[in-house]
Amino acid sequence: SYILAIETSCDETSAAVVQDGKTILSNVVSSQVEVHRRFGGVVPEIASRKHVEIITLMIEQAIAESGIPMNRLSAVAVTQGPGLVGALLVGVVAAKALAMALRIPLIGTHHIAGHIYANQLVHDIVYPCMALVASGGHTELVLLESEGKFRVVGQTRDDAVGEAYDKVARSLHLPYPGGPHIDKLAAEAEEAVPLPRAWLEADSFDFSFSGLKSAVLAVINQANMKGEELNQAALARGFQESVVEVLTEKAVRALRVYEAKQLLLCGGVAANRGLRAALAERCGHEGIELLVPPLSLCTDNAAMIGAAAHLKWARGEFTELDMKAEPSFSLEAWSVQSE
Ligand code: ATP
Ligand code: MG
Ligand code: FE
Repeated sequence: SYILAIETSCDETSAAVVQDGKTILSNVVSSQVEVHRRFGGVVPEIASRKHVEIITLMIEQAIAESGIPMNRLSAVAVTQGPGLVGALLVGVVAAKALAMALRIPLIGTHHIAGHIYANQLVHDIVYPCMALVASGGHTELVLLESEGKFRVVGQTRDDAVGEAYDKVARSLHLPYPGGPHIDKLAAEAEEAVPLPRAWLEADSFDFSFSGLKSAVLAVINQANMKGEELNQAALARGFQESVVEVLTEKAVRALRVYEAKQLLLCGGVAANRGLRAALAERCGHEGIELLVPPLSLCTDNAAMIGAAAHLKWARGEFTELDMKAEPSFSLEAWSVQSE
């Protein structure tokens, strides 16, 4: 199958053609990050407008680069949610128009299923497996009992990990998005400011990052009040060490408890070098197979949406043309209906 996939859930406009849910024939991404930088975060109104300006070009480029003629496309997949409603709508309308014009099925796709199945574009997934989703809006442990069956076994009770990275970066006056800047500072640091770890209840797979964020702010405020110079790198490293330790520990424990065969790391924060290194070391030590997508497939892109949509394509589970963008779409409910 040749699935044309479209992603516009946040601030990346992307289109791709994916063969059989595994092979990327094209994957073009236009990031609006420069536009939003001066506001220190994504401005939803501006995001929608920018998607409208460039979506047609992205789709044309993805089709042209793939070498697949329009009349050989099997289906159109689009991120239906979760995400910013105005941003999602742009992709959804474009996808519906194409599905109608080409008379091919529409597949409304879950954004987080996309992040997880980005792994399928580069690895062979073995079930049951455990996915650690670490992105700008989500921090979840997702059990995949079999292909396309999602069960959320743990999630954040407050901030998502990417959100915490961006907020901490902002309070250190680093540019948006802050994740990569904290990552870089942490790598350069010679010492780490000691900060708390939020383990929650002993058997919980849930996360909490707002306490850690407050602890970072307290360190900054104290330095300001005393007129002392802040060791930014040491603070970044302390923050990152806390995040990485909790994510790694909980992911490995969840994998053991649910007897999963592989650990899949995904989402924008999966680009974090500290997290990748810590997970790789721990998994190597314990003989756990760790799957991580290349950096370009960790952040938002349409190829991952094409990979996830193939689950539905293979089962003939298509979406009605009158479907709506779902800003808070349920991952578990998006599971495949048949085995
Ligand atoms: P969601 O997928 O939950 O809807 P999103 O699509 O906005 O949210 P992604 O694009 O998956 O999120 O990830 C973006 C996030 O990843 C940002 O918060 C960014 O700071 C973070 N990020 C990117 N690179 C790194 C890095 N090297 N270290 C830490 N965080 C990073
Ligand atoms: Mg983004
Ligand atoms: Fe995302």
